[in-house]
Amino acid sequence: MSLSKALTKPLAQLSHDEWESLCDGCGLCCLHKLEFDEERGLIYTTCVSCQLLDSESGRCRDYAGRFKTVPNCTQLSLDNLAEIDWLPDSCAYRCRFEERDVPEWHPLLTGQPIPVTIGVKAMAIVNEQEVEHEEDLEDYIVEL
Ligand code: SF4
Ligand code: SF4
Repeated sequence: MSLSKALTKPLAQLSHDEWESLCDGCGLCCLHKLEFDEERGLIYTTCVSCQLLDSESGRCRDYAGRFKTVPNCTQLSLDNLAEIDWLPDSCAYRCRFEERDVPEWHPLLTGQPIPVTIGVKAMAIVNEQEVEHEEDLEDYIVEL
Protein backbone atom coordinates (compact mmCIF):
# COMPACT_ATOMS: atom_id res chain seq x y z
CA MET A 1 0.00 0.00 0.00
CA SER A 2 1.46 3.39 -0.95
CA LEU A 3 1.54 6.13 1.65
CA SER A 4 -1.27 8.68 1.66
CA LYS A 5 -0.28 12.01 0.15
CA ALA A 6 -1.42 13.62 3.39
CA LEU A 7 1.59 11.95 5.00
CA THR A 8 4.11 12.76 2.30
CA LYS A 9 3.28 16.12 0.72
CA PRO A 10 4.49 19.30 2.43
CA LEU A 11 1.77 20.50 4.82
CA ALA A 12 1.44 23.75 2.91
CA GLN A 13 0.46 21.84 -0.22
CA LEU A 14 -2.25 19.65 1.26
CA SER A 15 -5.75 19.98 -0.12
CA HIS A 16 -8.58 20.59 2.35
CA ASP A 17 -9.50 16.90 2.34
CA GLU A 18 -5.90 15.76 2.75
CA TRP A 19 -5.49 18.16 5.67
CA GLU A 20 -8.65 16.89 7.35
CA SER A 21 -7.61 13.25 6.81
CA LEU A 22 -4.63 13.80 9.10
CA CYS A 23 -6.97 13.86 12.09
CA ASP A 24 -6.98 10.36 13.57
CA GLY A 25 -10.10 10.92 15.69
CA CYS A 26 -8.36 10.49 19.03
CA GLY A 27 -10.51 13.32 20.38
CA LEU A 28 -7.82 14.40 22.84
CA CYS A 29 -7.81 17.98 21.58
CA CYS A 30 -11.48 18.25 22.54
CA LEU A 31 -10.79 17.73 26.24
CA HIS A 32 -10.50 20.67 28.63
CA LYS A 33 -6.94 21.55 29.57
CA LEU A 34 -5.72 23.47 32.59
CA GLU A 35 -2.61 25.57 32.47
CA PHE A 36 -0.96 26.03 35.86
CA ASP A 37 2.32 27.63 34.97
CA GLU A 38 2.48 29.54 31.71
CA GLU A 39 6.24 30.06 31.93
CA ARG A 40 7.05 26.41 32.44
CA GLY A 41 4.29 25.31 30.09
CA LEU A 42 2.58 23.03 32.61
CA ILE A 43 -0.61 21.97 30.89
CA TYR A 44 -2.83 19.30 32.38
CA THR A 45 -5.49 17.41 30.51
CA THR A 46 -8.83 16.57 32.07
CA CYS A 47 -11.32 13.89 31.11
CA VAL A 48 -13.96 16.59 30.66
CA SER A 49 -14.90 16.99 27.03
CA CYS A 50 -16.36 19.71 24.93
CA GLN A 51 -20.13 19.41 24.80
CA LEU A 52 -20.01 18.37 21.12
CA LEU A 53 -17.55 15.52 21.46
CA ASP A 54 -18.89 12.06 20.78
CA SER A 55 -16.67 10.07 23.12
CA GLU A 56 -17.59 6.77 21.47
CA SER A 57 -16.27 7.78 18.06
CA GLY A 58 -13.81 10.47 19.14
CA ARG A 59 -15.40 12.82 16.59
CA CYS A 60 -17.22 16.11 16.81
CA ARG A 61 -20.98 15.69 16.57
CA ASP A 62 -21.31 18.85 14.45
CA TYR A 63 -17.91 19.45 12.91
CA ALA A 64 -19.18 21.59 10.02
CA GLY A 65 -21.39 23.76 12.21
CA ARG A 66 -19.39 23.60 15.44
CA PHE A 67 -18.55 27.29 15.68
CA LYS A 68 -22.23 28.11 16.16
CA THR A 69 -22.23 26.13 19.41
CA VAL A 70 -18.58 26.36 20.39
CA PRO A 71 -17.23 29.68 19.10
CA ASN A 72 -13.85 29.14 20.74
CA CYS A 73 -13.15 25.80 19.05
CA THR A 74 -9.75 25.99 17.39
CA GLN A 75 -9.46 25.52 13.64
CA LEU A 76 -6.02 23.96 13.23
CA SER A 77 -4.06 25.43 10.38
CA LEU A 78 -0.50 25.80 9.27
CA ASP A 79 -0.65 29.35 10.60
CA ASN A 80 -1.42 28.40 14.20
CA LEU A 81 0.25 24.99 14.64
CA ALA A 82 3.46 26.54 15.94
CA GLU A 83 1.62 28.36 18.73
CA ILE A 84 -0.56 25.48 19.88
CA ASP A 85 1.18 23.65 22.69
CA TRP A 86 -1.69 21.49 23.91
CA LEU A 87 -1.98 18.95 21.11
CA PRO A 88 -0.94 15.45 22.18
CA ASP A 89 2.43 14.17 20.95
CA SER A 90 0.60 11.60 18.86
CA CYS A 91 -1.47 14.17 16.96
CA ALA A 92 -0.63 13.82 13.28
CA TYR A 93 -0.68 17.58 12.76
CA ARG A 94 1.92 17.98 15.46
CA CYS A 95 3.93 15.00 14.19
CA ARG A 96 4.03 16.34 10.68
CA PHE A 97 4.77 19.88 11.80
CA GLU A 98 7.68 18.59 13.91
CA GLU A 99 8.77 16.31 11.04
CA ARG A 100 8.17 13.12 13.01
CA ASP A 101 6.43 9.96 11.84
CA VAL A 102 2.76 9.63 12.74
CA PRO A 103 1.97 6.73 15.12
CA GLU A 104 1.86 3.29 13.55
CA TRP A 105 -1.85 3.00 14.39
CA HIS A 106 -2.81 6.09 12.37
CA PRO A 107 -5.82 5.34 10.10
CA LEU A 108 -3.90 6.60 7.06
CA LEU A 109 -1.38 3.80 7.69
CA THR A 110 -3.70 1.02 8.79
CA GLY A 111 -6.87 1.77 6.84
CA GLN A 112 -8.71 1.20 10.14
CA PRO A 113 -10.09 3.50 12.84
CA ILE A 114 -7.71 3.97 15.74
CA PRO A 115 -7.70 1.18 18.34
CA VAL A 116 -10.13 1.47 21.24
CA THR A 117 -7.14 1.69 23.58
CA ILE A 118 -6.16 5.10 22.15
CA GLY A 119 -7.56 8.55 22.87
CA VAL A 120 -10.97 9.33 24.32
CA LYS A 121 -12.36 5.93 23.37
CA ALA A 122 -10.12 4.48 26.05
CA MET A 123 -11.16 6.98 28.72
CA ALA A 124 -14.15 7.57 31.00
CA ILE A 125 -15.20 10.90 29.54
CA VAL A 126 -17.40 13.42 31.33
CA ASN A 127 -19.24 15.89 29.13
CA GLU A 128 -18.69 19.50 30.19
CA GLN A 129 -22.44 19.91 30.55
CA GLU A 130 -22.24 17.55 33.54
CA VAL A 131 -19.68 19.71 35.35
CA GLU A 132 -21.36 22.48 37.26
CA HIS A 133 -18.45 24.80 38.08
CA GLU A 134 -15.32 25.54 36.09
CA GLU A 135 -13.28 25.37 39.34
CA ASP A 136 -14.23 21.70 39.57
CA LEU A 137 -12.18 20.88 36.46
CA GLU A 138 -9.12 20.30 38.65
CA ASP A 139 -10.85 17.22 40.04
CA TYR A 140 -10.87 15.66 36.59
CA ILE A 141 -7.18 15.88 35.69
CA VAL A 142 -5.92 12.67 34.08
CA GLU A 143 -2.54 11.27 33.08
CA LEU A 144 -2.28 10.46 29.42
S1 SF4 B 1 -5.49 15.62 18.74
FE1 SF4 B 1 -5.04 15.80 16.58
S2 SF4 B 1 -5.45 13.76 15.76
FE2 SF4 B 1 -6.45 13.87 17.77
S3 SF4 B 1 -8.55 14.54 17.33
FE3 SF4 B 1 -7.34 16.39 17.74
S4 SF4 B 1 -6.66 17.08 15.73
FE4 SF4 B 1 -7.35 14.97 15.50
S1 SF4 C 1 -16.54 21.86 18.78
FE1 SF4 C 1 -16.10 19.82 18.05
S2 SF4 C 1 -14.01 19.92 17.25
FE2 SF4 C 1 -14.33 21.74 18.56
S3 SF4 C 1 -13.60 21.11 20.61
FE3 SF4 C 1 -15.80 20.70 20.51
S4 SF4 C 1 -15.95 18.53 19.90
FE4 SF4 C 1 -13.88 19.24 19.40
